[in-house]
Amino acid sequence: MEEGVIKYRLQFTEAAPVAMKPLAALNHWRTILWHQALIGQDPARYDGYDFGNVSQRIEDLDAPRGKRCFVISGTRTGHLPELDSRHYTQVMSYDAASNTVSAAGPVKPSSESLTHGMLYDLDNDIRVVLHVHSPDIWQAADRLAIPATNRAAAYGTPAMAAEVQRLFRNSDVRERKIFSMGGHEDGVVAFGASAEEAGDTLLRALKASREY
Ligand SMILES: [Zn+2]
Repeated sequence: MEEGVIKYRLQFTEAAPVAMKPLAALNHWRTILWHQALIGQDPARYDGYDFGNVSQRIEDLDAPRGKRCFVISGTRTGHLPELDSRHYTQVMSYDAASNTVSAAGPVKPSSESLTHGMLYDLDNDIRVVLHVHSPDIWQAADRLAIPATNRAAAYGTPAMAAEVQRLFRNSDVRERKIFSMGGHEDGVVAFGASAEEAGDTLLRALKASREY
């Protein structure tokens, strides 16, 4: 578990922040998730590494796979209750095969950018991806019939990428819009056409996971 460590090869260019106005709903939801401790940084969790990150597609929505631009929260921003333009960065391209991400902005992108890019590649209707860490949802995934990647597939590996692709082929994840990452402790991903849709899905799952 090395949440804050960038495992992929990052081509990063320092650049001006992106406009925040189109990201207002995303940023609002990021704050909600932070207050639920689904995103954060805690010395008692994951060796103190940041956890959780949010992203949203921007610009050319017809772009081909691997180039579906998105804005993602920056690495080591988990401790901040609220983010602003200094804490988001733009991912221009990504390639799971070579583990490469190219990004530009005021901060390096989250170390989980490839997972976000992979989801945007799997479904062009996905506009927002929220990755959180929830012991409640993760442990209740079976009971709630939330699709889960195989435990043998570790975070940030080609095996995890293959597992997510398998879920899109063989489960109802497209309808549920949420899955648990079996091989990534407490890792949960929700997605949708908007931040509200993905955020609502997460909060409903959190509520359901605590009923019993
Ligand atoms: Zn994670």
